[in-house]
Amino acid sequence: MNSSSSDERHKQRMQKLKEKVDARIESATEDKGLLLVLTGNGKGKSSSGFGMVARAVGHGLKAAVAQFIKGSWECGERNLLEKAGVAFEVMRTGFTWDTQDKTADTEAAQAVWQHAKQWLQDDTIDVVMLDEITYMLTYQYLDLDEVLSAIANRPVNQHVIVTGRACHRALIELADTVSEVNNTKHAFDAGVKAQKGIDW
Ligand code: ATP
Ligand code: MG
Repeated sequence: MNSSSSDERHKQRMQKLKEKVDARIESATEDKGLLLVLTGNGKGKSSSGFGMVARAVGHGLKAAVAQFIKGSWECGERNLLEKAGVAFEVMRTGFTWDTQDKTADTEAAQAVWQHAKQWLQDDTIDVVMLDEITYMLTYQYLDLDEVLSAIANRPVNQHVIVTGRACHRALIELADTVSEVNNTKHAFDAGVKAQKGIDW
């Protein structure tokens, strides 16, 4: 087979693919605020959520972030995004398996949730990120129905990003876009410490 006929066949395949993609783009006509869920055991949920927040801010949109589990390290994204005008509310207590105090953890989760609930009623906020909120539902620090109803009744054009492992199926059903990040490998399992700028 000479190279010109192979080029021609490649061109025809690409042309067919382009027609299919164009048809799908044309049939997607709706504009609306999305509920996006990033779940699963692999690395990349919060960093993906923050990536979308940065993307939104880059377009001049207004974003707010509620962090339901405060890590032991400072958050690189917070350092950057607060300077860009993103509001942050962070849970007062540390990891729940460090504190093991259900009453204190519930109070701390509720305090952050009160801010998040207000953002979910504020149509001047374009993107709300609820980082690690899945655990608050698993441990019942927050009421599932209350969270579902606040998200379902938010302003129509507001986007909500939920992150965390083992997302409740009711939230997955309500969501428009759900990505499950699988853990194929993680450096930590090979004895590598969490790295600044990559892991936090
Ligand atoms: P990231 O914030 O890096 O996107 P994540 O939000 O997907 O991670 P979390 O469960 O919130 O994951 O955990 C945050 C921290 O734990 C990060 O430092 C991350 O590198 C680390 N981590 C995430 N997944 C794993 C894993 N499968 N094994 C070990 N450590 C992990
Ligand atoms: Mg995370």
